[in-house]
Amino acid sequence: DGTSNKIRLLEQSPALEGQFSHFVESTDWQAVTQSHQEKTEQDVLRALSKDKLDVDDFAALISPAAEPYLLEMVAKSERLTLQRFGNTLSLFAPLYLSNTCANECTYCGFSMSNAIKRLTLNETQVGKEVAAIKSKGFDHILLVTGETNKVSMPYFERMIPLIKPHFSQLSMEVQPLDASEYKQLQGIGLDGVLVYQETYRRKTYLEHHLRGNKSNFNYRLDAPDRIGQAGIHKIGLGVLLGLEDWRTDSVMMAHHLRHLQKRYWRSRFSVAFPRIRPCEGGIVPKSIISDRQLVQLIAAWRLFDRDLEMSLSTRESPEFRHHAVRMGFTTMSAESKTQPGGYADDSQEALEQFEISDERPVAEIMAMIREQGREVVWKDWDPALSHV
Ligand code: SF4
Repeated sequence: DGTSNKIRLLEQSPALEGQFSHFVESTDWQAVTQSHQEKTEQDVLRALSKDKLDVDDFAALISPAAEPYLLEMVAKSERLTLQRFGNTLSLFAPLYLSNTCANECTYCGFSMSNAIKRLTLNETQVGKEVAAIKSKGFDHILLVTGETNKVSMPYFERMIPLIKPHFSQLSMEVQPLDASEYKQLQGIGLDGVLVYQETYRRKTYLEHHLRGNKSNFNYRLDAPDRIGQAGIHKIGLGVLLGLEDWRTDSVMMAHHLRHLQKRYWRSRFSVAFPRIRPCEGGIVPKSIISDRQLVQLIAAWRLFDRDLEMSLSTRESPEFRHHAVRMGFTTMSAESKTQPGGYADDSQEALEQFEISDERPVAEIMAMIREQGREVVWKDWDPALSHV
């Protein structure tokens, strides 16, 4: 049938000229690793003195050679963020619609072979979740699902029109789709799509994505190109820090961002920094990024791109989030539930994707943000108002 044909096509996804998969196929991973390993103090000082940074400067800023300059980087990152975004931060809530999944990802509690209770919310349950999220004040929602036929286009086409009228911004983090499908969803209210590549190294990617459509490396890698071609307002990138050398993956993501910015200049871009968290069948990270290194990475991203939206999730501890608020972030999740139905009924922890680390209620998060001299805005920052 149509679905199996699509799956067969997906399995063959070649690296396409002009798409990012082509860049990745023709780029030697070891050479990229060497490019940040060989950076010197001079490279770091040059990057720090520039206004417009290239990927090579970014590699210098995340290299060990930049570690003595951490305070300077953080101060500059804070200054640039304030100049560009003002002293505001917007909050969003992830809405987990389904934890069914036909994929096997080594780091995820929703993996097909995990014997957990599965739930896909119906219209009534979605209505209850929306009411619970709205009652906390959120105006920006991120829809999250596992990846199965059950939660594909027909389901999204039913749910988005129910949810969108209640929020000014609606983004999705679901299975990668075709450009025409993104376009279709944009017509019914989709504003942004996040597709995290997890790792840019094919070999490691295949070791962690064992079964299902997600094991099609190129189809996922080219999803941001398809989102851009569909003219979606916001495109989100991310790697799962810890699967591979975090520096090499970050340099590859910086290349990915520049590739997309050149082609889809009407879209806005966001990046996120998830670190591997404990989950069902948890794995040991291959490369551990310390808190200090994560701070360096965040500051380097802000210096690399002052227009970039940067998102901090509840995966991080309250202490880390407390200190990170001022650094360069523009959005943050709060009081997240990672199990479907969790906002209206949080007694179902067995359904959750991963344990969150910062479980504080929204009011406490807002107080913490204000303590850091920032204001919470419930709507997305609007560049058109930046001069007001
Ligand atoms: Fe499914 Fe996504 Fe989890 Fe993989 S990471 S098992 S695709 S929900």
